[in-house]
Order: sequence, then C-alpha cells, then structure tokens
Amino acid sequence: MADNKKLVSEITSMDEDFTQWYTDVCIKADLVSYSNIKGCMVIKPAGYAIWELIQKHLDARFKATGVQNAYLPMFIPESLLQKEKDHVEGFAPEVAWVTHGGMEPLTERYCVRPTSETLFCDYYKGEIHSYKDLPQVLNQWCSVVRWEKETRPFLRSREFLWQEGHTAHATFEEAEERTQQMLNVYADFLENDMAIPVIKGQKTDKEKFAGAEATYTVEALMHDGRALQSATSHNFGDGFAKAFGIQYAGKDNQLHYVNQTSWGLTTRTIGAMIMVHGDNSGLVVPPKIAPIQVVVIPIQQKKEGVLDAAYGIAKSLSDYRVKTDDTDRTPGFKFAEQEMRGIPIRVEIGPKDLEAGKCVLVRRDTREKIECAISDVAAKVGELLDQIQNDMLARAKKHLEEHTFVAHNKEEFAENFKETKGFVKAMWCGDRECEDKIKEEFNVTSRCMPFEQENISDVCPICGKPAKKMVYWGRAY
Ligand SMILES: [Zn+2]
Repeated sequence: MADNKKLVSEITSMDEDFTQWYTDVCIKADLVSYSNIKGCMVIKPAGYAIWELIQKHLDARFKATGVQNAYLPMFIPESLLQKEKDHVEGFAPEVAWVTHGGMEPLTERYCVRPTSETLFCDYYKGEIHSYKDLPQVLNQWCSVVRWEKETRPFLRSREFLWQEGHTAHATFEEAEERTQQMLNVYADFLENDMAIPVIKGQKTDKEKFAGAEATYTVEALMHDGRALQSATSHNFGDGFAKAFGIQYAGKDNQLHYVNQTSWGLTTRTIGAMIMVHGDNSGLVVPPKIAPIQVVVIPIQQKKEGVLDAAYGIAKSLSDYRVKTDDTDRTPGFKFAEQEMRGIPIRVEIGPKDLEAGKCVLVRRDTREKIECAISDVAAKVGELLDQIQNDMLARAKKHLEEHTFVAHNKEEFAENFKETKGFVKAMWCGDRECEDKIKEEFNVTSRCMPFEQENISDVCPICGKPAKKMVYWGRAY
C-alpha cells in the first residue's frame, strides 16, 4: 500500500519541468501507457472514457447541423493520393506505405490514410451527378497514421484518433458557410464542454492546410504559455473537385464543379485539457467530460453503518456518473487518487458525519470543503458540478487574457518571446517574408489572423509597410 501511495503523490512539479509534469500526469492518472510499437501509445480505459465523452458531445453537435457518419477504407492507392499536387506534397513525407498483401507484392502501393480527402473525393465522384445530390455532409470517426519522428502522449503519435468531416456543396459560398459553421461548433464544444477558451481565426497562407483555399483554426493557450491548435476547418473551393473531376449538372443544365470542405478534431484535445486545467496534484477534468463526476469515499468504513450510508449517497446521485470507492485502501490514498484522476467532486462520509446526518463535499478544482446534509447531497452535487464547469472556464479565460501580450516593434517581440509566456498580438503587412523573419528570429509561428481584429498600429513591426492584419503569434505544441 505504501508503494501505491508513493505512486500517486510522485509527480514532477509543473513549475519545475512542465514537460515532465505532463508525462507524469498522463502515466500516473492511468490515461496511457507506452507500447512496444515505436511512436504509438495504448490509450487505457481512464483515457479512452474521456475520448468517448468527447465523441458523444461533439457527435451530438455535428448531428444537430445535419452531419451523418460514414466509414471509408483506411488504405489509399498511391495514384489517388497524387491527384492533388499541394495535398500530396504536404503529406508524402509522413505517410506509411503498404507494399505487400500476404506474400504478394502489390502492383500499386497503398498508403495508410494520413487524412481522407482523396478517398472522399473518389467516393463523391461516384455519388454526385446532379444538384439534387448536394450537399453531401459526412463525417467519420477513425484513426489516421502520420510517421512522426518525435512523439508525446496525445500530442503527437504515429497513429491517433480523430474525426474528419468532408462535405461537398454547389457553391463556394455554401462551402464557406459550412467551413465557418463547423469552426463555431468546435469553439462552442471546447468552451462549453471542455472549459477551454479559444481564439477563432484564419491561418496565413504559409500555415494553411495542404490543398486548401482557406484554413480556419481554434487556438488555445496552455498553462505553460504554449499554443495548441485545437481544431481546424478548411474550405477547398473547387480545387479538389477539379483534380478529381467531381461535377454536377446544375439547374441551368450546365456542368459545375462542387466546392468542398473538411474539418477535424483529434485526441490532442485530451492533451489540451490536461495542460489547461491540470495542477501539481494531477488532472482536473471538467464535469461535462469527466468519466466519473463524483466519487464517494467512506472513512472508517468498517464502523457500523458507514458503508451503507456511502452506498445510499451514491444511489441518490444516480443522475450523475458516480462511483463508491469501497476498496480497503486508506482514505488518504483514495483522496490522492481522486485528485490525480481529476474527479470533480469527492464525498467524504465517516461515523461522526453519519451521526450528524451530514457529509463533506470536496471540489477537485479549488479543494474547497463543503458540509452538506445527507438528504441534500443530490441537489448540492448538481449545483456544484455546474459551478465547477463555469469556474474552470472562467479561470482558463483569465489565464488567456493575462498571457496575451502586444508587440508594436521588434524589441517588444524579443522581450515577450524571451521566455514562452503566451500569445503575442502584432500587426502584419501580409508578406510571407516578414512572417518567415518573425518565425526564424523569435522561434514562433503565426497562430492565426483572429476574426476579431484590432488596430494595434498602422505599420508592420518588421518592414514598416502598411499593416493589413493583426496576427496572434506563439510557440506551439
Ligand atoms: Zn512586413
């Protein structure tokens, strides 16, 4: 038991070494374990349960906008991948190839999907003939493979889970509307379910998706001041349609190319949740996506009536995801485990509480202890879960605001990026050259041109030419 307790308490302090803290939390909260396949991880039940809730919430939001789910093959013939020039250039360096089926060499090698635009194009080409076949609004939940060199749990691995939506529309305007609609779905999901505030905006040409006309992104700020691209949505215009020959007969009896979009969110979101909300005791999981929302912990459980009271409390909380920890480990161990796993509320009930007809609720996020009559537990827990969800978003918003800085000139860029403190907002002339210069000099990337623009100054801080856009810059995961 002593060893177990040590396991729970032993994580690196986030102020000392954030990277190590992150890895420790992933392992000790039992979310992942390393596998013998290089660059791939096992998502353990505690981690996968979070992903299932992410899927559930996001899928419901998708379906409310008319999205249907489908499933396409995991293999892409090389000839198909090569049809769209920018796309293949963007992905070729990191695809895995299948060259044999059994003992037989294949006449054409297949890549394992790094993303499925080309497959959806091939499928839509056969489905779409008339304007009556439009729009097509499909999504698939699947895994993809990208042969990354460096890997980290949830943030970067060779195989990861995600959803990818792919749509086809009659006009560019309809595609644009869908692209922005899905970005808003992601932003709402991240803010309201994950308690992660985001900056919505457009990627610069340098940072946009391979083959896209426009890429929109939601960018979040982690506790250590690094940015994390949390989801993206792309408008392809008719570029893919032209490469794949996807045409429909319009009401005018003429042939037109379709306009397409794609949009995705991955298991990185779990990494974001860890790095936005976690603390030195482990995970802090927002109530809406917590696999266990309340754990009831009996104290001196061998004393008469205590265990029954704990089961009774759990029963009264059946509207929530609740668990009673009746194992024979010490209460101290159980408290530490609840903190490590980020369970939003623990209920403590011991012989003295029982006598007084009350119990103690402890919030994971603030550690606040609240006495509560046993008969009021269900109402109080419901209220507290809402409060915790709201408070977590408010704290993350405050962190984002306090870690967003402004640069009027190069000196302020240098000053703000000496250490990684957060986002830096600055004006930009729109030239690739200035973007490259900032990237090289300060080791940062343009995160997005936010939809909510501000006029910090009239000139580009790098070249002095008139400024066109305000850009968020940051060091990113
Ligand atoms: Zn410039």
